[in-house]
Amino acid sequence: MTPPAPKNLKTFSRSEEFIEKLKSFHIIQEGHFEYKGKAIDGSRMHGEYFINYRLLTTAQELELAQFYSTAIEEFFSDKKNLIIVGVAMGSLMLPKVVQLSMFAKTGIEYAYTEKREGVLGIYGEQLDKCRGKHLLFIEDICNNGTSSRELVAEIKQKKEKMGITGFSILYGIHRGHAFLMEPKNELYAMGVVYAPSFHTSECPACAKNLPLKEYKK
Ligand SMILES: [Zn+2]
Repeated sequence: MTPPAPKNLKTFSRSEEFIEKLKSFHIIQEGHFEYKGKAIDGSRMHGEYFINYRLLTTAQELELAQFYSTAIEEFFSDKKNLIIVGVAMGSLMLPKVVQLSMFAKTGIEYAYTEKREGVLGIYGEQLDKCRGKHLLFIEDICNNGTSSRELVAEIKQKKEKMGITGFSILYGIHRGHAFLMEPKNELYAMGVVYAPSFHTSECPACAKNLPLKEYKK
């Protein structure tokens, strides 16, 4: 299977090393998996990768934070008003650990997103912290980009009022099949793993009669 060429996405120069690290932590598992997501006929979608940031331990988060701070320097060294914004994600702590690991050197600040009335956004005091800043959202995985689309709509609405100078999204793993067009030139990934989901009738692992694997929890 040839993965589609990434569009509007920049990838970290040490992404292979980062992906190997996630595999060694069992955050990326390979095999034959049944996903939560359902097809139109109600059957569960299948795929060959299971990516789960919820398994991260603190020691692992600290190790990953070193990769993230290198990537952030690589991508954003020209931006002096950067603020890290944590997106509700598998490892709730990771964006905060990344920010803390960079704080002594750069003084970079932190705000978090939350859902209010079902809408993912930045609210109240967290939004106040973002005044005059360039927002860097740290998100675990890009599946189909739903949460990113919500964020993009939300920030575009508040951008002018809050004097937000711009925003970027840095994914841990981009699954390499759904590419957002916004924010243009401001989507980044620590690594890309081509991991589409399939209807069981089209699943390559089903075709090979591979048994379904349990997720490592
Ligand atoms: Zn299958």
